[in-house]
Amino acid sequence: KLPHQKELFGHPVGLYVLFFTEMWERFSYYGMRSILVIYMIAQASDKNGPGLGWTELEAYQLYGWYVMLVYLISIPGGILADKVLGQKKTVMLGAVLLSIGHGVLAVEQDWAFFTGLGFIIIGVGCLKPNISTMVGGLYKKGDIRRDKGFSIFYIGINLGSLLATSFIGLVVAKWGWHAGFGLAGIAMILGLLVYIWGQKYITHVGNKMSLEDKKSDVSIGELFNNIFKSPVHLGIMTVLIIISLYFGYTKEGVDHWGYGALFVFLSLVIGLLMMIYKDLDSKIMKDRFLVLLLSFLLVIVFWGAFEQAGGLMSVYTEQKTDRMLFGMLIPTPMFQGLNAGFIILLAVWVANIWAKRKLKNKEASSLFKMATGTIIMGLGFVFMILAVREYEANGSSGMQWLILAYLFHTIGELSSSPVSLSFVTKLAPAKYASLMMGLYFAATGLGGKVAGILGEKSAEFGEYTIFTGIVVFTVIFGLIVIALLKPLKRLTHGAEDNEVEMH
Ligand code: GLN
Repeated sequence: KLPHQKELFGHPVGLYVLFFTEMWERFSYYGMRSILVIYMIAQASDKNGPGLGWTELEAYQLYGWYVMLVYLISIPGGILADKVLGQKKTVMLGAVLLSIGHGVLAVEQDWAFFTGLGFIIIGVGCLKPNISTMVGGLYKKGDIRRDKGFSIFYIGINLGSLLATSFIGLVVAKWGWHAGFGLAGIAMILGLLVYIWGQKYITHVGNKMSLEDKKSDVSIGELFNNIFKSPVHLGIMTVLIIISLYFGYTKEGVDHWGYGALFVFLSLVIGLLMMIYKDLDSKIMKDRFLVLLLSFLLVIVFWGAFEQAGGLMSVYTEQKTDRMLFGMLIPTPMFQGLNAGFIILLAVWVANIWAKRKLKNKEASSLFKMATGTIIMGLGFVFMILAVREYEANGSSGMQWLILAYLFHTIGELSSSPVSLSFVTKLAPAKYASLMMGLYFAATGLGGKVAGILGEKSAEFGEYTIFTGIVVFTVIFGLIVIALLKPLKRLTHGAEDNEVEMH
């Protein structure tokens, strides 16, 4: 169905438009994220200007909710694209909202903090899943370049992150927190401009469904309506909602109402998914939908461990790591930049290792890569255990542990994250393509929430226990998936077999 596309370096030019748009968007996202927690716990007398003066616990709580919401909103963001605007316009809307959000954060007033975060959450929800689906849309079914395309796109993501984490610490040290937030805003405006300029190269992707497809389409309203026609599904959803409300009501504090609301939302999503499953035409589609949902469990585990980067590991870096190098103190955000730097260095290497395995007909399915990636990332926490040991003995720990931990995290991420994006675009039913991508990001967001909770628990159990727990859990979970690989792969009905070079 795709028209002939202009190419550059063997990929459609549209890929590079999306690459640079996403690069600037991620610059703003990761730049802001790298100072968020330390801004919240900074005192009024902080050297970078007054922070919010929150306790670490409060900061971890907000961080957890923030990272979760940023990605959870991808579900409505995906639905908006599938059903109303199409992906391309939804991305545009997201870019505008993000520019406003980061701009507002640059304002040095109390109201601005939560307002800015609100805009950013909705903006990312509109932009992130849909721009990713559009990358998939550049390639025909079965085109072997699709995985590579996502790897290239992933380099753009991390180039943005690397640039941001390299500069934002310096900007904050010189001009204060709000200049840092402002820099993120400027980056997002650049992203918006790139996207507007590049529209001519992406005319054929991310458009609203044609009228013809629309006729056979079922609206979200109809899907919910169908729930009321099916007592079993209605029953399951009602029970889930009642449990959620009870949970929120019987616990005290805003946090618990937050959980109550989250579980009600997830119950509605489960209701919707059951109806979509029922609505899918063929057994193949149903199976693929199922295996995709199952793979999202692995995604939650992966990001639950990985997202320690912006929380627990960020504070560990700030407070317990000896950051002096040649007489200079390395700013904390730069350590988060290590992840991005390693990605840029290693993305092609990791992609080639897997490609070689595939050529030799060895196991290299997406699910296998995702499971292996989770194990490798989990093993990275062994170095954090060693760091804690050294801190306990000497009162500070060397930065080599963080460097090694981030190296393993990165190799794990490269085996898992770009692969999952591509996997979603291969398996999702066309009319729910954006929604499924939204669900994928929502799973990463739930992982982010898990990471926040682990951070909160570190006050009670200590970092040593948390890091050890992460190693044990991720390795066991990854091994279970590998053990179940055969039946899981059967559910994909060969979606990844016979991929060929296409132009
Ligand atoms: N680092 C990746 C990105 O920003 C993955 C984020 C995620 O999937 N939660 O795109």
